[in-house]
Amino acid sequence: MTDYRKEAEAIAAEITEARRVIHGYAELGLETVKTAAFIEEKLRSYGIEPKRCGKNGVTAIIGQEPAGEGSGKVILLRGDIDALPMKEETGLPFAATNGNCHSCGHDLHGAMLLGAAKLLKAHEKELKGRVKLMFQPGEEVLGGANEMIADGLLENPKVDVAIGMHTSSGGDHCDLGLVTFKRDYSTFSGDFVRVTVHGKQSHGSRPETGVDAINIAAHIVTGLEELIAREVSNTERSVVLVGKIAGGDSCNTQAGTCVLEISVRAASSERRSFLKQRVKEISEGIALAFRGTAETEYVYGQPPMYNAPEMCDCVPGYAAEVVGQDMVKELFEFGGTEDFTAVAERVPSVYLHIGSGAIAGRDVTHHNPKIIFDEAVLPIGAAVYANVAARYLEEHQ
Ligand SMILES: [Zn+2]
Ligand SMILES: [Zn+2]
Repeated sequence: MTDYRKEAEAIAAEITEARRVIHGYAELGLETVKTAAFIEEKLRSYGIEPKRCGKNGVTAIIGQEPAGEGSGKVILLRGDIDALPMKEETGLPFAATNGNCHSCGHDLHGAMLLGAAKLLKAHEKELKGRVKLMFQPGEEVLGGANEMIADGLLENPKVDVAIGMHTSSGGDHCDLGLVTFKRDYSTFSGDFVRVTVHGKQSHGSRPETGVDAINIAAHIVTGLEELIAREVSNTERSVVLVGKIAGGDSCNTQAGTCVLEISVRAASSERRSFLKQRVKEISEGIALAFRGTAETEYVYGQPPMYNAPEMCDCVPGYAAEVVGQDMVKELFEFGGTEDFTAVAERVPSVYLHIGSGAIAGRDVTHHNPKIIFDEAVLPIGAAVYANVAARYLEEHQ
């Protein structure tokens, strides 16, 4: 069996150098122009032919076309590469100077995936299937994965399973190289809803001649409260929040329209569709009951992260071959949003976290411009990516 950990440690300096280059670029959203060009150049230097996917996403294949029909699976490894719009405060000699900051560690993810690519390429002939790399921009703006999927990421060759990995900081999970995962759902979905209530404007002294859109909106707010309080089990967490409301022209006029902006978060795909249906029914039903109408625009945003049981059964074991069994832990709590969920909604996936140390303290977490990641995580993460891919292909031929 290939010792990917040992091989990754041998190229640690190169992975670190790549990380520092990406760190310095600190490009935002879907505009990872220099980062994508750098990744392509590195892949070519490893003998891997990169392909643009979306505007600034990069993908590539390692491994041979299978000989027979249906033989050899395709596993996708995803590393995101975008930074955040905040001024870096680490004081590091290679800190970004463009006003942005890689405070979510995506520079490490890109570099670890590059390291894994080099290692896997060196063992290409031994691979029992193919590895597809996904260098993804626009994670922080939750649009990059969808853009790459729309550009054919999951086809030619068709992706069978996928792995996402993110560094982790703060609290108990940041121990260097600690790999954590959660079964089933691990993040909320995130959807945005705009409800526009239509009433009829009239003078405040003659209420019977109009329909008050603000009054209707107020009933919708309390109606939506009842949805979580009475229709969702109290063992389950979901959120329906009216975060913004606007309507009316003056204090003595009944409002003709009122707009509610609502955030809906659900802990499973089933609950997500239920809430979608009920938010619409409650809003439009209440408007009708009070002689008005309402339109519901539902922007179906990010699905919840679903970790497939068949992936949770094997992948943590392959990671343990790199970091040791005592450094792999199953978690039971929910995390934040992540747009790898767009991939996980389409192919069986698992999302791993890898502890990236606490050089600036355990209270300094991701998205803090003072965060300093321990670069010792780079070869560990590269080895986890590589070993998980190689071993999955070996055991699933
Ligand atoms: Zn982030
Ligand atoms: Zn992130």
